[in-house]
Amino acid sequence: MKINEIGEFGLIGRIAERFAPLVPAGWEGIGDDCAVIPWDEGQSMLITTDLLVEGVHFLRDRISARELGAKSLAVNLSDVAAMGGRAVGTFLSLGLPAEGVGVEWCDAFFEGYRSFGVPLLGGDTTASTTGIIVNITVLGRAENSRVKRRNTARPGDRIAVTGPLGESAAGLRVLLEGLPSTPDTDELIRHHHRPRPHLKEGEWLGRERGVHAMMDVSDGVASDLLHILRGSAVGATVDLSRIPVSPLLQRTAEQYDGWEARRLALTGGEDYVLLLTVAPEEADDLERRFEAQFGRPLHWIGTCTAGAPEIVYRDEAAGTTVENTTYRGFNHF
Ligand code: ADP
Ligand code: MG
Repeated sequence: MKINEIGEFGLIGRIAERFAPLVPAGWEGIGDDCAVIPWDEGQSMLITTDLLVEGVHFLRDRISARELGAKSLAVNLSDVAAMGGRAVGTFLSLGLPAEGVGVEWCDAFFEGYRSFGVPLLGGDTTASTTGIIVNITVLGRAENSRVKRRNTARPGDRIAVTGPLGESAAGLRVLLEGLPSTPDTDELIRHHHRPRPHLKEGEWLGRERGVHAMMDVSDGVASDLLHILRGSAVGATVDLSRIPVSPLLQRTAEQYDGWEARRLALTGGEDYVLLLTVAPEEADDLERRFEAQFGRPLHWIGTCTAGAPEIVYRDEAAGTTVENTTYRGFNHF
């Protein structure tokens, strides 16, 4: 059987099944943004790792070394924030082609990596025959009571994201379509190359009892929300008219043929905003305090239901239901 017949998540499911019996009681392994391991009294260690491969995750001639160093760490830090934790240390393994990558490139990469102020504690360095390979592991910590998981959403919860969606995917599309440089297309590429992980937001939301489930958006809400729904055995309705699309993405999408802002926002991925579900009675208060704290709104996009773990897309502004196979997020295979 080929891997693309079961997909990235089918493959991960097979791995998880095989290793579940070896995971000690009280430890949480495969299935969430981080593994969760008991640490000091009342504290958990959060561990996450991500791999970035040249040609799959980035194009060496388009992203600067500094940007790559920062982005590689950003996507890992985002997973710790997504569980309500704070990063305390990192490990970095690098595969580098001997030709074509100089010491100056490495210095710039490490300058970007260092920009988050989180210590690098170790790693590995090898030659690569296929391009640049970056693997990072981040250790974080959180009080047990503050760890937010994917499998704790409840029917009736309201669903929110912490920022606009689709700009990173639009930036990638600008690069792949070779669109001319304008202030707008340059800005979209910046969103793709310099994502801002919502670290403070994640730590703050971790302290909120009204937040039931949380994860970060790496593959697009259309795919990532399904992880919360399947993990929690709940359904969801998502209101397409409330998907947050920035004015920048809106006007760029109107300008280019075949661009659909809403589709990019739902399926594009690499936004690294947080996706969360909130007890309905806490939602208004949380929205007020989030905005007071961060000067930016929480965007409500839907509601969890007691239905099957699927997303029903509705356009409440237009009063229509949309076929739910219309939006699919990113899958590596
Ligand atoms: P994220 O996008 O948050 O980094 P992924 O979708 O990559 O998460 O992974 C989902 C879950 O599967 C995570 O718990 C991750 O640790 C686990 N996982 C992914 N690939 C593997 C692998 N090759 N071996 C073991 N666990 C894996
Ligand atoms: Mg994640």
